[in-house]
Amino acid sequence: MLIVQKYGGTSVGSLERIENVAKRVAKARDEGNDLVVVVSAMSGETNKLIDYAHHFSKTPSKREMDMLLSSGERVTASLLAIALEEMGYPAIAMTGRQAGIRTDDTHTYARIESIDTEPIRRQLEKGRIVIVAGFQGINEQGEVTTLGRGGSDLSAVALAGALHADACEIYSDVDGVYTTDPRIEPRARKLDRISYEEMLELSSLGAKVLQNRSVELAKKMGVKIIAKSSFSDGPGTIITEENEQMEEVLVSGIALDKNQARVSLRDVVDRPGIAAEIFQRLADEQVNVDMIIQNASREGTTNLGFTVPQSELERAKEALEGFSGDYGEVDYDENVCKVSIVGVGMKSHSGIAAKAFSTMAANNINIEMISTSEIKVSMVIDEKYGELAVRVLHEAYELDK
Ligand code: ADP
Ligand code: ASP
Ligand code: MG
Repeated sequence: MLIVQKYGGTSVGSLERIENVAKRVAKARDEGNDLVVVVSAMSGETNKLIDYAHHFSKTPSKREMDMLLSSGERVTASLLAIALEEMGYPAIAMTGRQAGIRTDDTHTYARIESIDTEPIRRQLEKGRIVIVAGFQGINEQGEVTTLGRGGSDLSAVALAGALHADACEIYSDVDGVYTTDPRIEPRARKLDRISYEEMLELSSLGAKVLQNRSVELAKKMGVKIIAKSSFSDGPGTIITEENEQMEEVLVSGIALDKNQARVSLRDVVDRPGIAAEIFQRLADEQVNVDMIIQNASREGTTNLGFTVPQSELERAKEALEGFSGDYGEVDYDENVCKVSIVGVGMKSHSGIAAKAFSTMAANNINIEMISTSEIKVSMVIDEKYGELAVRVLHEAYELDK
């Protein structure tokens, strides 16, 4: 079998842990598998590098950020290869470029366009374990790019797809996907399986156990992901196509996203084209706007509110500057979060959203914004109630049962 394994930051967070990973890889090798192993930077390393850059500049060039951030994964890849060689297992570490990963030019958030699998195949044929530095590739100009936070998951899925691997195992510090973050709700239950669709919603809405783009790609390429722990043995959670058994479940999980900020524009001049103008400015600054609410107009003006990732708030402020005159005042609130319930069963059942709202009411949590889709209900609330909301919703939908 050809297996792609990915080890996240915590799993390679110290030299002892890298050694632990080397042993796991060696074991899989002893079982007769060909292995491509994708690694993250040591935990905290990427954040540390970002802080270093911010020491010099509030808005460092994205090209340089990619040069900088891609180095973290390179360290762990080579250390793991060295550890394996020392144990008597032939191994070779590769950067994204050496592994043939080509991306577009969106520095710091690049999209994988293609993978030339030849270099990896050649090494596998020589009997080597191939270790790939995750989270990176190169663009057409040969510049280093990175794939967005948590992007090593995407490297692993893309490689598994391109190599037609038999399995794509993603190892972290939890032994699978739970009904909610087990750090917030200890009664969270591990799921044996979850559909791509639900997993995509959960990870897009804040469950970082898998990066959302990796789930999207896995769905597109039909890569079956297994989420497992690098600290214990167990079957993990399989992320795969929806099946009948899953449809019986109304709500499968709850996600919390603390990386949210709310922007409110008051007394916006109510004329055709105003929303187009505001959101075009935000798009030009690459701000991802999420929930939007606009009140009915009174006396020619209206109020407009929307959420953006907290990390993009500075850019949102820049985008809205120079646009004054068309609105009265603007305020920004970083103390909000988004809590969401997700389940494919919602498609065919009513009353799920109502239950979420009444649960919040019963706990005196004010809902500031709401958005829904076929399989999710999201609510923006005060950040200080985020974890409480997760727990009471978990209980209300009996997810621990
Ligand atoms: P890695 O560094 O290995 O990529 P992450 O820290 O990105 O790992 O993801 C694992 C973490 O995801 C867990 O420690 C857990 O706190 C968090 N998490 C959030 N939601 C969930 C969920 N529904 N199931 C499991 N873990 C979750
Ligand atoms: N090291 C990168 C990050 O922290 C990528 C990853 O870990 O997947 O976002
Ligand atoms: Mg991760």
